[in-house]
Amino acid sequence: MATRSPEDIEAFCRRAQDHWSKDGRRTQVRDILSRVVAAQAAPFSADELRTQARRIDRGISYASIYRTLGSLVEAGLLREIVGPNDRRCYTLIDSTHTGVSHIVCTDCEQVVPMNDDCLPLREGFLARQLGFTPRKMSLRIEASCEELRQHGACARRKQKEP
Ligand SMILES: [Zn+2]
Repeated sequence: MATRSPEDIEAFCRRAQDHWSKDGRRTQVRDILSRVVAAQAAPFSADELRTQARRIDRGISYASIYRTLGSLVEAGLLREIVGPNDRRCYTLIDSTHTGVSHIVCTDCEQVVPMNDDCLPLREGFLARQLGFTPRKMSLRIEASCEELRQHGACARRKQKEP
């Protein structure tokens, strides 16, 4: 499993804090949540964030989690995507994660980000030809897992939280 470097984590937290400091919305809970979010190497759901954040502070509520996630999306630090079973997931937007395209594995219920530099070039070109200026582009591929089909097990398959 990939991990995020301490520099990436710090940079993400600083940008989140800057965003909240501007209008006095920075709180201790938000600082904890942004740090947990900053460490995510793969797309995650609100439930997964809650499980991890509660190891640090048991009092963190769903309301705080959804407000913080919404605020990070608004700040341009997170992108909301549709994961397995149409579940809402979040993916980081920074130098290491562009998060533009992703594969949703319906077998393993995983979201796998793809670095797809061709998408903006190719589809952007088509859109321009039709007289549009693209503002946002994403590609979502729903797929079944070859590893699971061939070997009966897949390393990407997450353990279900109890
Ligand atoms: Zn798999």
